[in-house]
Amino acid sequence: MAYERKEISIDEIRRQEGICAEIRDAVSAASEGRQLLAMVDTYGCQQNEADSEKIRGYLAEMGYGFTQDEFEADVIVVNTCAVREHAEMRVLGNVGQLNHSKKQRPGQMIAVCGCMVQQEHMAQKIKRSYPVVDLVFGPHELWRFPELLQKTMTGKKRVFATERCDGLVAEGMPSKRDGTVKAWLSIMYGCNNFCTYCVVPYVRGRERSRRPEDIVAEARQLVEAGYKDITLLGQNVNSYGKDLGGGTDFADLIRMINDIPGDFLIRFMTSHPKDATEKLFRTMAECKKCARQLHLPVQSGSDRVLRAMNRGYTSGEYLKKVELARSYMPELVITTDIIVGFPGETDDEFEDTVKLCDAVRYDAMFTFIYSKRVGTPAASMPDAATREDKQRRFDRLLDAANRVSAEKHAEYEGKTVRVLVDGETGKPEYNLSSRTNGGRLVHLKGDPKLIGQFIDVKITSSNTWALYGEVE
Ligand code: SAH
Ligand code: SF4
Repeated sequence: MAYERKEISIDEIRRQEGICAEIRDAVSAASEGRQLLAMVDTYGCQQNEADSEKIRGYLAEMGYGFTQDEFEADVIVVNTCAVREHAEMRVLGNVGQLNHSKKQRPGQMIAVCGCMVQQEHMAQKIKRSYPVVDLVFGPHELWRFPELLQKTMTGKKRVFATERCDGLVAEGMPSKRDGTVKAWLSIMYGCNNFCTYCVVPYVRGRERSRRPEDIVAEARQLVEAGYKDITLLGQNVNSYGKDLGGGTDFADLIRMINDIPGDFLIRFMTSHPKDATEKLFRTMAECKKCARQLHLPVQSGSDRVLRAMNRGYTSGEYLKKVELARSYMPELVITTDIIVGFPGETDDEFEDTVKLCDAVRYDAMFTFIYSKRVGTPAASMPDAATREDKQRRFDRLLDAANRVSAEKHAEYEGKTVRVLVDGETGKPEYNLSSRTNGGRLVHLKGDPKLIGQFIDVKITSSNTWALYGEVE
């Protein structure tokens, strides 16, 4: 698909960092020695988490510390999601509430960014109905957040920066990562698939890949900094590299990262079934650092619905890919996303989804009720099912999914598995959390010094959501 790739030069990012220094000097002069604080609130997917780490990176360079309390914050950035209406409603509700903190702190700067405000009607809504918001910027403007914030701080007018841009790639932005064990690593941006229900291609622009050498260099830095679990991010990682024309595809990229010395795991999401190849499964099987985990969203088990969704595969083709993947990796953990109640979905078509899930036996499923998105083709498709019909289907699918997850988890009981300890739970009986190679959650009791280590644990019990283990 034609688009203009626009690379932001490293000089431009350095200029933004220069603006960070200017903001730091200006605000520290005005604050009389008080530590200034920023709050970054993130909704939605892992890509948004990764974007928020960049926003925090810039804010840290401006001299801000961080808080989760809006009443303490001098700057608030709300990074939004547009995938479903529910997320948008939550954002608008919470942004409305910021009236209270701004009243107490009149100089408080409030910015709203991300996918939700990249939609024209939402930017307008904020302009009209949320005067508390000072700055609005879309995902394509993130690289120049310092410049936009400075303009907002020094000007008298609210700033709206939501220019549409299809092909932007920016390297070298600072990043303040959330954890010390697990890290997100974006390998590409945007999406070309235009599934008929989905807003992502409209707000995130066309598919564009980062250069393999930039990705490998970042992965190497992460490993050297001690990260043990690296998740490669993209809307459809299986089409990685197609736009670069350099011959490196996603499987090649996994192999390049696998070759970095060190003990760490490579995960990735999301993999589109239509582009998942035998080469990918073979490479995963051959690369020891590649986790035995595959998130392969099927969305529906009905061939008519899959066609109407523009997914590009049938349920039979999907099942064959699952079998192929399992033939290379029998221990593979497979998870999926399902949309219930896509416009026109009948009870029988929904039953096809239940059958497909029974056939695959997913380790975990993420199920969503269809949400109408402005400007997408599905928004104008006839939809006879009522909200109650959809809720009934959703509940039935969730029951089936939970039952299978519980059965799959029960199979771990009595076994010894290698896990990566990744944090504390705050609960006394099982104070540590960890993940298996396949990404299943294991609660443990043990010394917090184990965080960041791979250890063997014996699984003693389980339920639908998690496993429980003892350190061996
Ligand atoms: N690029 C990824 C995921 C994008 S959004 C992929 O293709 O898998 C994450 C999930 O949200 C999707 O897999 C889908 O199940 C769900 N989703 C997207 N748009 C939706 C909508 N309009 N209503 C309900 N769920 C939706
Ligand atoms: Fe949305 Fe489909 Fe692209 Fe995923 S592949 S982001 S569901 S359009």
